[in-house]
Amino acid sequence: MAELFYDDDADLSIIASKKVAVIGYGSQGHAHALNLRDSGVDVRVGLREGSASRAKAENEGLRVLSVVDAVKEADVVVILAPDQVQRHLYRDEIAPHLNEGAALVFGHGFNIRFGYITPEADHDVVMVAPKGPGHLVRREYVDGRGVPVIVAVEQDASGQAWELALSYAKAIGGLRAAGIKTTFTEETETDLFGEQAVLCGGASQLVQYGFETLTEAGYQPEVAYFEVLHELKLIVDLMVEGGIAKQRWSVSDTAEYGDYVSGPRVIDPSVKENMKAVLADIQNGAFAKRFIDDQDAGAPEFTELRAKGEAHPIEATGRDLRKMFAWVKPSESDYVEGSAA
Ligand code: NDP
Ligand code: MG
Ligand code: MG
Repeated sequence: MAELFYDDDADLSIIASKKVAVIGYGSQGHAHALNLRDSGVDVRVGLREGSASRAKAENEGLRVLSVVDAVKEADVVVILAPDQVQRHLYRDEIAPHLNEGAALVFGHGFNIRFGYITPEADHDVVMVAPKGPGHLVRREYVDGRGVPVIVAVEQDASGQAWELALSYAKAIGGLRAAGIKTTFTEETETDLFGEQAVLCGGASQLVQYGFETLTEAGYQPEVAYFEVLHELKLIVDLMVEGGIAKQRWSVSDTAEYGDYVSGPRVIDPSVKENMKAVLADIQNGAFAKRFIDDQDAGAPEFTELRAKGEAHPIEATGRDLRKMFAWVKPSESDYVEGSAA
């Protein structure tokens, strides 16, 4: 059974006595910086020259410095730039200026797990990873709640790394929901597997195949869109509320019977074998290497795949239909519909 931690298990004064630099002000960075500040923590934001994020942080009244200057001031450096830039950022702008004994906080274990960042032995290295997007982490905090976090210590130089991590988790609101103890290895491998096999990769491919099967058989794309994409949210909400069992309880007997007999035909045992192969590539570093090598080459594969996804006919159908859905409000984010950028 996982070890769970709540607000009463953490001492906010630990993080509140530190100078914290949040590097990056994107999805997670803005949420961490604002929640820390509102919990009474001394926060500065580190951004690169000419950063598009600077105005957003300054509009919230946050102090924005260069990455180097933010790191020089800090007892705790939180690395929330995109995973693929972190190792350059760490080597060039963080490590050379890191104060003796300063702690490093990550929001995902990728760079530590795959050896792209190897901090010196005198730094605490911890992870506080919210299990939700940054905009939800901020919204829940403002509403007096929190998004659950998973917490890990990779390197305990001070002997206090765990207490620091829990204090940080409390300050961003995560322990209002729950903190689960994990390791960098477990977090990284399960996070990558979940998003590749089920949440992002698996679900996207399943929806696209469903849409293609119906439209190729002559059904209207608008009707297909409703049946294979739009209603997915209703099903997922039921699963989140009460597991697969509640979803099956709520749908019609026809749908439930169809679930039992056709689900395993569509997602047959070969899919599980494919999942095992995906997991093996995550564990042996092959996925990480492919991603980082492509990024280092200017992301040609990533760019091509993104454009191909955006060009799938389900996207055009969805764009037209959603204009008619007064009840579907785009959630707060910087996403611009129809831009593959
Ligand atoms: P984003 O892509 O949203 O981060 C963008 C931010 O990083 C911007 O402020 C950007 O500034 C800055 N940035 C980009 N490149 C550089 C650079 N070279 N130097 C300095 N700053 C830079 O990242 P996420 O919030 O998605 O991810 C951050 C971390 O959190 C990752 O480790 C991720 O795995 C983890 N995580 C993310 C979740 C999410 O919901 N997105 C969920 C849980 C964990 P600029 O304006 O200059 O481009
Ligand atoms: Mg992830
Ligand atoms: Mg139906």
